[in-house]
Amino acid sequence: MASTARRPATAWGQRLALAICAAVLAGLPVTATAGGDIERLVAAYPAFLERIEGNMLVWKDGTRMPIDDGKPAKAFEALLDQPGIKDMFRWPYPTGAEATPPAFQVDPGRIRHQALFDKMYGDCTKGQTTAKLVEVVWLPKKSGQKLLVTQVNGVAEKLAAVSKVLDELPARFDSFLFPSAGTYVCRKIAGTDRPSVHGAGIAIDIALKHAHYWRWTKPGADGRYPFKNSIPPEIVTAFEAQGFIWGGRWYHYDTMHFEYRPELIGAR
Ligand SMILES: [Zn+2]
Repeated sequence: MASTARRPATAWGQRLALAICAAVLAGLPVTATAGGDIERLVAAYPAFLERIEGNMLVWKDGTRMPIDDGKPAKAFEALLDQPGIKDMFRWPYPTGAEATPPAFQVDPGRIRHQALFDKMYGDCTKGQTTAKLVEVVWLPKKSGQKLLVTQVNGVAEKLAAVSKVLDELPARFDSFLFPSAGTYVCRKIAGTDRPSVHGAGIAIDIALKHAHYWRWTKPGADGRYPFKNSIPPEIVTAFEAQGFIWGGRWYHYDTMHFEYRPELIGAR
């Protein structure tokens, strides 16, 4: 069902309020990111990441990347264009929450430090990704569509596990799920110069039929994009359980989009 209603109290809002209270009590700077984000990042990618050393993220191969890039607070577009590693955790991802309209310019998971993803999955513009791709059969009983995703970090197995759960849902879910609108594509995000996460082979767009996307919507009188979503929570839950975040949790929503980002939901 489409919902454009705004609800004042959300589980997300409560979580954010609690995080802010905790930060204040601990005498920390008030940000939306509570402690432990980078620890969760290291834990989420055990094949690549080893430890935190001060402000450095240390990889198993000895590579060191600064966590906080030391730049002054970034405006929204700069956050998207030039984020440091710490910036990826700018907003907490509300795993399991009801699909309520996200607050203005709150896009948990839409900020990606590109060097981190390129190093793990390869840079598709340099031909480094395709050798890592494998086929996953999407909803083997109902669809059988073959999709290419990366085998790095077990993403293919995790998508197959999501697919298995979704394959058991009643027929009324079918038109939301297949045909999938695509997985691996080496391209830029529409209307931007930023590489799409689809080029890493870690993202899937489910069926186009019931999808809503902020760019397809006209802003309201207040200049803001009205939230629209039709994707049932059962589908979101199946993805989040395997470490995939949902584009329906973004102010700049993309409700058919899911991507493997276990560092944001603590799943592995
Ligand atoms: Zn997508």
